[in-house]
Amino acid sequence: MRRIYLDHAATTPTRSEVVKAMLPYFTDAFGNPSSVYSYGQEAKGAIEEARTKGAELIGARSEEIIFTSGGTEADNFALKGVAYANEGKGNHIITTSIEHHAVLEACKFLEKRGFQITCLPVDKYGLVDPDDVKRAITDKTILISVMHASNEVGTVEPVEKIGEIAKEAGVYFHSDAVQTVGHIPVDVDKLKVDLLAISGHKFYGPKGVGALYIRKGTKLVSLMHGGEQEKRRRAGTENVPAIVGLGKAVELAGQEMGKETERLAYLRDKLIKGLGEKIDHIRLNGHPKRRLPNNVNVSVDFVEGESMLLNLDLEGICASTGSACSSASLEPSHVLLALGLSPEQAHGSLRFTLGRENTEADIERVLEVLPGIVAKLRAMSPLYKTKK
Ligand code: PLP
Repeated sequence: MRRIYLDHAATTPTRSEVVKAMLPYFTDAFGNPSSVYSYGQEAKGAIEEARTKGAELIGARSEEIIFTSGGTEADNFALKGVAYANEGKGNHIITTSIEHHAVLEACKFLEKRGFQITCLPVDKYGLVDPDDVKRAITDKTILISVMHASNEVGTVEPVEKIGEIAKEAGVYFHSDAVQTVGHIPVDVDKLKVDLLAISGHKFYGPKGVGALYIRKGTKLVSLMHGGEQEKRRRAGTENVPAIVGLGKAVELAGQEMGKETERLAYLRDKLIKGLGEKIDHIRLNGHPKRRLPNNVNVSVDFVEGESMLLNLDLEGICASTGSACSSASLEPSHVLLALGLSPEQAHGSLRFTLGRENTEADIERVLEVLPGIVAKLRAMSPLYKTKK
């Protein structure tokens, strides 16, 4: 059976060009970048080349990029790093209810240790209101953290406006750009961010590598202490092959982004339109226009997301749902609840996130298969029968 992978927001396959670029750094060029002899310097040079590429893609200077173990570490570094470096100035942090757990859990950790967290609501499309951000700022605010785009519903946030507000107020601004870097244009000056989180495996790079952009002059403490790597900001021998892979993924994304964005947006819109035509009692989650080019998130009434996923899997189609199956209980997605969906609607959600290997035939296959799955599941639903 042909497998159709439609879960690129979860992770992407590592591109063959990326793997090829990484391989020599496991074997021939295995040196420790801190070593002074040529093996070491070769590895160090490769890291610096990746740093330059990363900086170029987001309009930064290479010395403003620090490599991390991924998006989660980059988010934690930004939040905890700024919080502990600026305690003297204040203890208030503003974030939003739709952030990734990497941000929300870091905030919870800080809250338990005396920091005050304001978690802003979003509208029914998942948009944060910049005026809410402005109103939430106090003289104790040290950091604002708002994601660039939602990994679940694909809504692209008004980060530029929020950046302006942060700048005017003299407050640091962090954005989790894990779902946007490599997919849509990201420019740190345009967005007016001081910190920005990046993850390699979301744009065809390897897993376990990412980066934090830190604007020159930003005060933050390190989380990792030890050697002098990464300008003393993140100790530990660098993951050279992964960093090289990230650099290659960045380079390829930079070259291909424009065309690919257009192609994906066309496929996305075809899928949204087709689902609306072929399935009744279905609604799009997230913003109809301000959304990632590859994201389709829908709620299908009277059916469970998990059941749809399992049935899609039997047809070789991989997607995801807004409910995480944890032990015996099904937790509805905090993001969908924040948009105002009921727990039932959140449980009936499906997310398709498209990628570079997907074709129009894949979309047609989903449109051919899913209506039948929904009809079959609804036939077993007493709720659907009474609603009809
Ligand atoms: N932030 C967002 C928006 C994400 O989608 C993810 C990954 O799912 C992360 C952070 C965490 O990134 P990583 O998997 O590299 O730790």
